[in-house]
Amino acid sequence: MVEQTLNELIAGNMTTKHVVEAVEEFGSPLYVYVESILRGNCREIKSMPHAFGFQPRFAMKANPLRAILQIIDEEGIDIDAASVNEVARAFRAGFDYDRIMLTSIDVPQEDKHDVQRMMLAGLKYNVCSWTQLQNIGDFVAEHHIPLSMRIHPGEGSGESRTRNTGDKYSPFGVHLKDLPQLLHYAKEKGVIFNQVHVHIGSGGDPKKWRENIDRELSFVENSFPDANRVNFGGGLKVARMPNEVSADIKDLGAYAKERIESFYERTGRKLIMEVEPGTYIIANAGFIVTEVKDKKSTGSDGYLFLIVNGGMELNSRPLLYGSVHPFFVVSKAGDLLSSEFRSLDGCPEQILVGRCCESGDSQCLDAAGNLTPRRMGDPEIGDMVVIGGAGAYCSSMAPSNYNSYVRPPQILLRTNGERDLIEKQQWLHQIIQNELPLRKLA
Ligand SMILES: *Cc1c(COP(=O)(O)O)cnc(C)c1O
Repeated sequence: MVEQTLNELIAGNMTTKHVVEAVEEFGSPLYVYVESILRGNCREIKSMPHAFGFQPRFAMKANPLRAILQIIDEEGIDIDAASVNEVARAFRAGFDYDRIMLTSIDVPQEDKHDVQRMMLAGLKYNVCSWTQLQNIGDFVAEHHIPLSMRIHPGEGSGESRTRNTGDKYSPFGVHLKDLPQLLHYAKEKGVIFNQVHVHIGSGGDPKKWRENIDRELSFVENSFPDANRVNFGGGLKVARMPNEVSADIKDLGAYAKERIESFYERTGRKLIMEVEPGTYIIANAGFIVTEVKDKKSTGSDGYLFLIVNGGMELNSRPLLYGSVHPFFVVSKAGDLLSSEFRSLDGCPEQILVGRCCESGDSQCLDAAGNLTPRRMGDPEIGDMVVIGGAGAYCSSMAPSNYNSYVRPPQILLRTNGERDLIEKQQWLHQIIQNELPLRKLA
């Protein structure tokens, strides 16, 4: 074996030897996270320029695994939770409630008392609708708990139509037309908003991200006299593929710093800045290791298919959004047969598919569901295909048990080269344990 790094462009190391050894120990398919890359990304986010204080949050819906959250905690990054259960998971991983903010489209009902108990212990509640505010208004007024408000700015940006969370196609946040009603209610009740939040989408145009800074600061200036914190959301674009460009953290931070400083000069108010990336922190720290099970073709005017033992049930992003992930083909012996980050000249065009009974179970799809052949090495059955950029919204979002496949193990490649199991493989009995047999009618 010639040990080779899969992708030299991302900090940290994941080599062909790591792939072979991980499969020897844990089998495949397998999720592998690289601690050094994850920590490097956290430190990069933490180094974002700022004016009067800065606190990044990790959008844990991208990857809520306990060990991952523990690393995020050690790196001094707080939590953005999308549901009450996520808050509970973050707390279990070691975050105190005062380091967690709940931003959810759901309206707490049966779990309302859990939310209130968490808020008394410091959980920040980010109000996202008129119904949510009425639901929590009396409680926060009684206990003098300040709130955050997520605003729907009317304009957003995402990598696809479905990942824009700021425009009229998206129901997230308090729409500007409803703002007067909420502010009036808050004034009557004595409810304070000390934070303003906008999240315009995932992986969108950095220019739109900058524009949002100005728009959001004008909301703070015009409508939120008590706000001392401003959260610019997540959505920082990450380059998974060689032709993509990541958001420039230093540049965006420098812009935000300058705008927050001039806000201070205008208003005398010093704002603490928050951002809440998910993708940027974890996407390129994760890999899915699969094994080639079969090869087929659909004739001279058809396609060459590589069938591997993991697809949409491990990474549904191509099927959902036409997302493109880098492929690395590694032989059983550990030789690098192809890497997305090296020349693919001479490699055949193929379609990578999983083993679900579903035509859409492919990692080579565009947003309309068309097959998009990709150049990659020509492996033997038993060789491996590694899917990169798979740390965010893969294990957390996949329809895991489709076709009754079990969730595979997830491991962490430690900074000292050791491998830690961080989620055990699921077993069939765990998929069916809550099912009940047909009851016989009398
Ligand atoms: C999903 C989400 C994020 C993170 O988005 P990324 O594109 O992964 O950075 C941040 N904030 C909110 C409110 C979200 O819903």
